[in-house]
Amino acid sequence: MNLILFGPPAAGKGTQAKRLVESRRMVQLSTGDMLRAAIASGSELGQKVDGIIKRGELVSDEIVIELIEQRLPETEAAGGAIFDGFPRTLAQAQALDEMLAQRGKKIDLVVRLKVDDEALMQRIAGRFAESGRPDDNPDSFKVRLGAYNAQTKPLLPYYEGQGKLVEVDGMGSIDTVAAAIDGALDGVTA
Ligand code: ADP
Repeated sequence: MNLILFGPPAAGKGTQAKRLVESRRMVQLSTGDMLRAAIASGSELGQKVDGIIKRGELVSDEIVIELIEQRLPETEAAGGAIFDGFPRTLAQAQALDEMLAQRGKKIDLVVRLKVDDEALMQRIAGRFAESGRPDDNPDSFKVRLGAYNAQTKPLLPYYEGQGKLVEVDGMGSIDTVAAAIDGALDGVTA
């Protein structure tokens, strides 16, 4: 089972992904986590992307596609992949389809968490103090939301056209959202 958790920043993708790792033995592939790990390690890649991420802009397709490609083998040994924060552009989505096809795999389901912009701004105002993430400051967050609306949201018709898109109300409690995602996953495996 290969799942894309789709939605704006702070929609709750990471929270739901972590739960699925526990319950379904899937592997979470979060490009945001991978990039933050690169920054923390002080690697050349980390230094290259640090400023871009702080500003809330997207890093290049090339970089994130390579990060994902390196991790695909381990997802096959487990219960599949949960793509979290990837793909974020049409080029990334197409590259992902190609990489999976080369391995005889595919995306089975895309779950879109729907949360309106105002609720996101409120969530992030609360999270900034705790997360310590420089890109959670209100100015960077606005840029992230703008990038989502301009570059990522246009992927919805791409996946809808493939018949893989399921929408879930992301405004509910963590458990309610989790139950909706489980229902969608069970619908595919059934
Ligand atoms: P969130 O979902 O809360 O916005 P992420 O942890 O997914 O946060 O991403 C944090 C930042 O990392 C993004 O704002 C962007 O700069 C960079 N990033 C993560 N994934 C990608 C991607 N697939 N393409 C381009 N940039 C990315």
